[in-house]
Amino acid sequence: MTDCALCKAAKEDSYRIICKDEYSYAMIKRDLQVKYHILISPIRHVEDFKDLTAEESLSLHKMLSSVRKHIFDVTGLSAVALLNGFKHISQDHIHYQIAPGEFGVWNLLQAWLDADPKPEWESWEQYLDLSKEDKAKMAEELKFKCQ
Ligand SMILES: [Zn+2]
Repeated sequence: MTDCALCKAAKEDSYRIICKDEYSYAMIKRDLQVKYHILISPIRHVEDFKDLTAEESLSLHKMLSSVRKHIFDVTGLSAVALLNGFKHISQDHIHYQIAPGEFGVWNLLQAWLDADPKPEWESWEQYLDLSKEDKAKMAEELKFKCQ
C-alpha cells in the first residue's frame, strides 16, 4: 500500500486535485491521453468495488456524477466514465477514469472497433506532453466544491 501510486498522488500531488470530500477525490491524471483526463478514486486504498463502505460508494458515485456535470458546464465536453478491464488494470487502487471529449460511448466503441489492433502502450508519445504547471493550471480551471 505504501507504494501505491494513487495513495501517494492523493497526498503528494494535491495540485492536481479538482475536488475532494471525506471519502473520495477527483484529480487530473498524471499521464493524460485527452485534455482534462481525470480519475476519481476513494481516498482509502481499496482494491475491489465490493470492499467499499456504503459511505465511500455513495461519495464516489456522487463525485462521478458531479465531476461529469461540472466538466460539461466548464468545458462543454462530454465526459465518458470508464473502468479498465481486468487484463489492463494498471493500479490496484480502484478508480474511474473520466475522458472528456466530443464523443459518447457509441462513438468510443466504434472508434475502438475500427482501430488497428495495437500492443499495449508502446511509448510515452501516446500521452499528452504536459508539464506539472500545465496540469496544475488545468486542475485550477476545474476546481470546484463537489457535492
Ligand atoms: Zn492506494
